[in-house]
Amino acid sequence: MNETKMVVDLRSDTVTRPSPGMLEAMYSAKVGDDVFGEDETVNALQNKLKHLFGMDDALFCPSGTMTNQIAIKCFTNPMDEVICDETAHVYRYEGGGIAFNSSASVRLLNGDRGRLTADLIEPQINPENIHYPKSTLVVLENTVNRGGGSFYTLDQIEPIYHLCRLKNMSLHLDGARIFNALAETNDNPKEYGRMFDGISVCLSKGLGAPVGSVLLGSTETIQKAKRIRKVLGGGWRQAGFLAAAGIYALDHHVNRLKDDHRHAKVLAEALLGLAFVKSCMPADTNIVIFELDEKHNPEEFVEKLAHHGIKCNSFGKQMIRFVTHLDINSEMIDYTLETLKKIH
Ligand SMILES: *Cc1c(COP(=O)(O)O)cnc(C)c1O
Repeated sequence: MNETKMVVDLRSDTVTRPSPGMLEAMYSAKVGDDVFGEDETVNALQNKLKHLFGMDDALFCPSGTMTNQIAIKCFTNPMDEVICDETAHVYRYEGGGIAFNSSASVRLLNGDRGRLTADLIEPQINPENIHYPKSTLVVLENTVNRGGGSFYTLDQIEPIYHLCRLKNMSLHLDGARIFNALAETNDNPKEYGRMFDGISVCLSKGLGAPVGSVLLGSTETIQKAKRIRKVLGGGWRQAGFLAAAGIYALDHHVNRLKDDHRHAKVLAEALLGLAFVKSCMPADTNIVIFELDEKHNPEEFVEKLAHHGIKCNSFGKQMIRFVTHLDINSEMIDYTLETLKKIH
């Protein structure tokens, strides 16, 4: 094997490039002006996802950050409070968007690998009192990025759903990797549609589309979401070329997510056997987060791997993250395992 030629990009599942089949679908898409609601491919994508999750309506947007931020704005008023885990993408990686876009405050909880429970949430819901911000929204993430791809079962979500109903709060799902969770649980997506007021679905993560996320919600929510998308500059025109990639991804790249999960498990198992690896989170889906021992500097480790053509990210103190995806094959996994055994 020519080591200098193989490039294994484990930095993120966003690095995938459209396959020839996907490009063909994009090339031949029928498009129109989506601001007028006239792009039939965008409409087809939105319809496909809303039916899959059993929700009223859907809105195609340029990014997962935008779908989440729109949802948070739909479900809160200024001075309200959003409850989420401290690892949540909506809090950590959306540039302070909750404050900027929604003028809301955030209550951060410490879940199990990013997963919240009704017992954790309930005591953090503010009572009606002018001193306190109004607790109006809970955001869950599934799978949890910083939880190493941990996922919820429906049994775990159900009590949170009931709590939100009881307290008159909305429940939003950051489902950037919801299909990774569904690949493991085999749950019916309509159960998600039943329990959540909003769901963000990413097409450009594990599903391999170049761009795009879809927000799902009630007719009223999506009506409001359209206004907010517009004011954010996200009203787009012949977006059907991108929606075609999303439809292709849903048709061809969902069933293969299990391969990514298998690859992640192989990596995690091998990492646990290496002297310089202190710990590794269980690889529940397509994300492997592991900890280097004190003798290893994470930046130097990333550089060392890069020298062998393997790209990855350091992920906080002593932590490294590998993400498997559509463009990682088993040959690349074998090469990564060999390389890891060689370096120290
Ligand atoms: C990637 C990601 C998003 C959305 O990110 P964009 O880059 O804006 O598409 C949202 N939530 C989670 C958990 C993610 O990993």
